[in-house]
Amino acid sequence: MKGFHTHNSHIPTEYEFKHSKWIQKMLHAYWVVIIAHFAIQIGCFLFLEYDRTPIDFLMNVLFWPTAVSSSCILFASWVDRRFSSYSFYTMSIASTVIAWTIIHVNYDIRIILAICLLPIFASVLFFSKKRVWIVFLMQMTGYLLVLFDPAYRLYLSSFDMVSIPAFLILGTYVAQVIVTSGVEVLDDLQASMLAKQDLIVRNAIMTKQSKTDGLTNLYNQSSFKDYYEKAFEYANSGMSLHLALIDIDDFKSINDTYGHRVGDIILEKVSLIIQETITSSDIAARYGGEEFALLMFEQSFKQAYALVEQIRQKIALMGHLELEGASITVSIGLKSYSPNLTKDKLFEEVDACLYAAKRTGKNKTVTSLDLTSSLAEKI
Ligand code: GH3
Ligand code: MG
Ligand code: MG
Repeated sequence: MKGFHTHNSHIPTEYEFKHSKWIQKMLHAYWVVIIAHFAIQIGCFLFLEYDRTPIDFLMNVLFWPTAVSSSCILFASWVDRRFSSYSFYTMSIASTVIAWTIIHVNYDIRIILAICLLPIFASVLFFSKKRVWIVFLMQMTGYLLVLFDPAYRLYLSSFDMVSIPAFLILGTYVAQVIVTSGVEVLDDLQASMLAKQDLIVRNAIMTKQSKTDGLTNLYNQSSFKDYYEKAFEYANSGMSLHLALIDIDDFKSINDTYGHRVGDIILEKVSLIIQETITSSDIAARYGGEEFALLMFEQSFKQAYALVEQIRQKIALMGHLELEGASITVSIGLKSYSPNLTKDKLFEEVDACLYAAKRTGKNKTVTSLDLTSSLAEKI
């Protein structure tokens, strides 16, 4: 299985997606910083007193800092596209270089030092204390590197030499506090999300449980009634609907002879046969103890009759080890919707069909047609 886990097939997690989005936003922000710095320098050179020669200004204030900073961002963007697992570090190095380049170029503006806090605070977004410490170390390295420049060192008082690292440490400390609280907030958020998901799943299970019968997995009587009501409305507006009631013959004697447990197994087997015979648009329910109700749509009366007959024959042909190889039978009543019926009347008539099937020998399907013809015979 190892071979399947190639780098290409790795599906990024939601966190990694965000991570990559943040990196891109940061890189974007650093472009803004570079462009703003470039523009401000030109403005200062044109409108303020500036103690540099034009050539010195062009090379050492405009060209080199912008070139170095831009190359760093370009490199970081490239790494982000190609080796995204390193993108945080290259982005941090790029931002450190930009920060200390700007500090170095503008050393006469004291407040400019604050810019080295930017990479530290940017690292907070990744909620890792380790990453904040690494970016802190990068700033210390940047600081030590600019100290190599004698002109810069000359500008700093010995108080500055100490206060700059202290300033960095304090900034990092605040950043760490933010990370810690952020992690707590994230944990809380995740916990409540999980709890919510759990609730949704449990709700779904409970809804299913409340609609189905535990033994047979068919719909129970109450959900059947809901479906029947809906089905009757559809039938009123022109859809075909057939209702069948299926009752196991002499089930009491099965219970009496082989025990309740065997009775249950037979119930499961019968519902399985019903389920595997009906189409996906039909609805089967366990209406009572050993009585099943079946709603059939999208078919003619003939097809519905053939379907319930198929159920009846399958059941009759099946021998059961639990009954010492004997088989059981069912009786069925079947009737179609017709506009002159109410839903209770239709149910009663199907029940009458079932009763007729029981009375006239069981193991048969009686439809309203049979009923009228047998009534006609009697008259
Ligand atoms: P008929 O052919 O007229 O339908 O006779 P029958 O014995 O099937 O009908 P009757 O209504 O007299 O008996 C139904 C029996 O079904 C009685 C009851 O104990 C049994 N029964 C109902 N629910 C369950 C169940 O969940 N498990 C088991 N094992 N038996 C059940
Ligand atoms: Mg029965
Ligand atoms: Mg019964």
